[in-house]
Amino acid sequence: MKDDVTISLEAEKRHISEIARKYDIFDQELEPFGKWVAKIESSVYDRLKDKPNGKLILVTAITPTPFGEGKTTMTVGLVDSLNSIGKKTMGALREPSLGPVLGMKGGATGGGYAQVLPKEKINLHFTGDIHAITTTHNFLSAAIDNSLHFGNPLHLDLEKITWPRTLDMNDRAIREVQTEYRKDKFIITAASEIMAILCLAKDIKDLRQRLGDILIGYDVEGKEVHARALNIIDSMIILLQDALKPNLVQTLEHNGVLIHGGPFANIAHGCNSIIATQTALKLADYVVTEAGFGADLGAEKFIDIKTRYLGETPSVVVVVATLRALKYHGMAEGLSDLEALKIGIANLEKHTSNIRKFNLPYVIAINKFANDPDNELEFLMDWAKDNNHPISLAEVFLKGSVGGQDLAQKVVKLAENKHEVKRIYELSDDLFEKVEKIAQNIYGANAVVYSPKAQRKLKALNEQYHDYPVCVAKTPLSFSNDPKRRGMPHAFDLAIEDVRVSRGARFVVVLTKGIITMPGLPEVPNATKMFIDDLGNISGKL
Ligand code: ADP
Ligand code: MG
Repeated sequence: MKDDVTISLEAEKRHISEIARKYDIFDQELEPFGKWVAKIESSVYDRLKDKPNGKLILVTAITPTPFGEGKTTMTVGLVDSLNSIGKKTMGALREPSLGPVLGMKGGATGGGYAQVLPKEKINLHFTGDIHAITTTHNFLSAAIDNSLHFGNPLHLDLEKITWPRTLDMNDRAIREVQTEYRKDKFIITAASEIMAILCLAKDIKDLRQRLGDILIGYDVEGKEVHARALNIIDSMIILLQDALKPNLVQTLEHNGVLIHGGPFANIAHGCNSIIATQTALKLADYVVTEAGFGADLGAEKFIDIKTRYLGETPSVVVVVATLRALKYHGMAEGLSDLEALKIGIANLEKHTSNIRKFNLPYVIAINKFANDPDNELEFLMDWAKDNNHPISLAEVFLKGSVGGQDLAQKVVKLAENKHEVKRIYELSDDLFEKVEKIAQNIYGANAVVYSPKAQRKLKALNEQYHDYPVCVAKTPLSFSNDPKRRGMPHAFDLAIEDVRVSRGARFVVVLTKGIITMPGLPEVPNATKMFIDDLGNISGKL
């Protein structure tokens, strides 16, 4: 089988206006970026806002290996498979960050015969949204320090400025920096509050409110100082104006996908933008969307954070699993692959039982790899049957839409009856209760233990922000906060190191022990595996 880049570069692409017409988007609502990509104007949503929503399908996964188990691939494949059985479907994905693209994991445009095009654009600079977010974030940082330079009229306490700087790159050298004025730090753009705000804002009016509300730090009397005090909110909106518009691209089978916003699910809320999801729900009868990493991270945040602002909930959840990851979760010295699989399946079991807690129907999608052994697949299918788990062997990577038609049929069937979603916590629970409910119900922790700093800060935030949702920052590689504890770890306490409020995004971020908001590159970055010849032809792993 050809590699992802070759499949993508050899594919026939259709002009983006042709894709737009399939979804009845008018020419004047489209702002093409070249031939294959276009931004969608907000007038599309305004025109269709009274139309009933399509059905929302959430793609999530078991706890992944560091390489990813195929959620994006399955999302794109399911868009094509649903369309191929006659259901008008659109995808809603996140924009790839250069951190993973150049770092460990590579691109985020799917794989095999389930990809979005043009891969080499989407994975790199695309329409510049992420650059615009980085710039807007850093302009606020510059304005803060400029205010310090000109006599500090806001009386900011230099030790208590909470707004960091940002860069869309894995650059561990700048985690902690010393600027002319103070100690500062960099976080990756995928964790920037501006990214979260862009993804949660409904429109420019909401964006204005949220940007103005950002907490930049405290003054010498201990009072909060908000971004609007610097008088630059309009300039920040202008910098973000184009980035606020969703980007339309096509799959290998020429179906539409909106790609917009790119928060990570480990250190941020992990879901594409509200604007894109809302728009897609008006344009199609089915919308397939992905929430990042395992269901403990992305799906929990999708339900507990995003849907509270979206005003829509999923009809069906697709839980992606691979033999590779299930065996990885169960592997120990001396075990055969099948024995490892039998143990590792506990991870899938826990994730499905979590989805049941949300009261949502689900189907397990086994993302088939070409060399998956038949006996292991059989074991998995039998296990699902014996335990009443809806399951489908999905071959979208290997075959495109034909490989996902069974999954598509099952999704359509499950989506027939809408279920009332149950959230893990109520907004009226206090912040400690919220963290405890997520830790115990979703992660399976015994208890939550706080560092003295986290305890003190969360107590203080509880005064003013007790009704905010919480966004837990945690390793994606384990239910616990220890990435080495694979599978279904028993008897652990969730350790919390720090907390902060994202006042513009309107959630409280809870950082578990060991989490880093500016990743580093691995010893051999993915960037060393991508190539370009003198004629500009790209190959390798992008
Ligand atoms: P996720 O969205 O869950 O992180 P992706 O869909 O991005 O995962 O897939 C991660 C990587 O795994 C991609 O490079 C993709 O090409 C590869 N991949 C996904 N599914 C398969 C498969 N069935 N066989 C081989 N490689 C796959
Ligand atoms: Mg993905």
